[in-house]
Amino acid sequence: MIYLVEDEEGIRDLVLYTLEKSGLEARGFDNSRPFWEALGESLPDLVILDIMLPGEDGLGILKRLRERPSTGRIPVMMLSARGAEYDKVLGLERGADDYLAKPVGMMELLARVRSLLRRAGMNRAENGGEEYRSGGLYVSAARHVAAVEGREILLTLKEFDLLLYLLKHSGMVLSREQILASVWNYEQAAETRTVDTHILTLRAKLGSCASLIRTVRGVGYKADSVLPGAVPQTAGETA
Ligand code: CA
Repeated sequence: MIYLVEDEEGIRDLVLYTLEKSGLEARGFDNSRPFWEALGESLPDLVILDIMLPGEDGLGILKRLRERPSTGRIPVMMLSARGAEYDKVLGLERGADDYLAKPVGMMELLARVRSLLRRAGMNRAENGGEEYRSGGLYVSAARHVAAVEGREILLTLKEFDLLLYLLKHSGMVLSREQILASVWNYEQAAETRTVDTHILTLRAKLGSCASLIRTVRGVGYKADSVLPGAVPQTAGETA
């Protein structure tokens, strides 16, 4: 089920029609109130948010979604007015998984929606039984869980992908461009600054395990070398 919050009736109807015609169930809302009500009843697989809305705007909705444990990992795609570069950067920095500028092409939208759903599904089901432990950090790819000192931490889909990518390549120095290409694969909208802001929020959430992610000056980032299931190493300096 896909939830769409869009106040322009023409766009809302077109998007809903396109999704449903492709076999994807979708519900549309013209402002945030009925959206939050619906969310209280059942959680969608994906949320599409227009940014400019009457009342609570799309960025406000995104922020609240990310703060709530039950909705923190739902993939979110933002829509916004043509050429609103500022919105794009803000949306991605605040944890949106993808961004489309209006006017939105329906084939493009459909391709991005399918890609997000596939990725979210892969994260849940196809990541195998990989588990990582280092110091107080525990990450299960299959269960999509990250915990620090035994307490689960709430990561957005992107933060989780980023952490997993760093852990899978632990010991290797990864450039911002490499990270962008792998974690933000098809999204041209993302910039290297997006990597930095996600590293910042990820480190903040990792708390006592933050030093696991090292900054490699002038290049990018590196996770301390740990093997899946390996015995914890001593923590290094805080990067
Ligand atoms: Ca609007």
